[in-house]
Amino acid sequence: MNNKRFSAGDYTSRTCYTDKDEIGTLGKTFNAMADAIVHTQQTRRNFFSNISHELKTPLSCIKATTEALIDGIAVNDQERTHYLERILAETDRMSRLVHDIMDIEQLESGRMCIKQERFDIAALLLHQADTIEMLLKKKNLSLLLRIQTDKRYVLGDADRFAQVLDNLLSNAIRYAPSGSHIGLLLTEENKWLQVSISDQGEGIASEDLPLIWERFYRVDKSRDRSLGGSGLGLSISLGLMEAMGGTITVESEKGKGTMFKIRIPWQI
Ligand code: ADP
Repeated sequence: MNNKRFSAGDYTSRTCYTDKDEIGTLGKTFNAMADAIVHTQQTRRNFFSNISHELKTPLSCIKATTEALIDGIAVNDQERTHYLERILAETDRMSRLVHDIMDIEQLESGRMCIKQERFDIAALLLHQADTIEMLLKKKNLSLLLRIQTDKRYVLGDADRFAQVLDNLLSNAIRYAPSGSHIGLLLTEENKWLQVSISDQGEGIASEDLPLIWERFYRVDKSRDRSLGGSGLGLSISLGLMEAMGGTITVESEKGKGTMFKIRIPWQI
């Protein structure tokens, strides 16, 4: 009876043959499998509902602003530019979200192409420091970059490694109070090269810490969204580091700041 309902797509049905005999063992396996299917279905549903929700906000903003422009809301060129810039910012946000979703899909299906090339991690850090100079200036932040090892080479995908660094540095900048320091430190730990990215921001509460790696998770839903985040960055960063044979960890103290550490095996 149950297997008929199950094969017809009703995954809520369970068998009650769970005795200690062979059929009971089969019954338990069957129920565990059914639980796993229900969980996967729920995760998929949440994922699609989150994506629709995330796309809805910028889309409504673009629609409303465009309609207002057509109705002649802008009285001069300066105002017109202001509204067009708003449309551009929302389009950028949607485009980032679509790229992030594509990354997640590729990581989960194992179709992401991760290069295995030897690259100089210290040079990459220096380059990254240059690219964020304007962002730092805007918030009156100073970067303390220290290279405390003469080992420089790792095996991995330099572009993807830069993407992880960019995500962690953008978060540090986003959550750091104006006038504070951002730390970027390269050290060696046995067979690993370790990059630590630290900020003196508000930190993350210990109950939220294990959850920040989940897709679309934001500690403060409305505030984090208004700051521009989609809640996908850390989930992608974790997937990318694992795909490169590395790790990523976090330590944080509420009111003191946060430190992310990424590690990757070093090469001669
Ligand atoms: P987002 O794009 O929203 O920043 P992430 O996946 O990169 O998404 O981060 C998930 C959440 O973790 C953020 O929304 C934020 O609440 C929290 N978070 C990440 N980095 C920091 C940090 N350096 N300081 C405080 N909170 C952080």
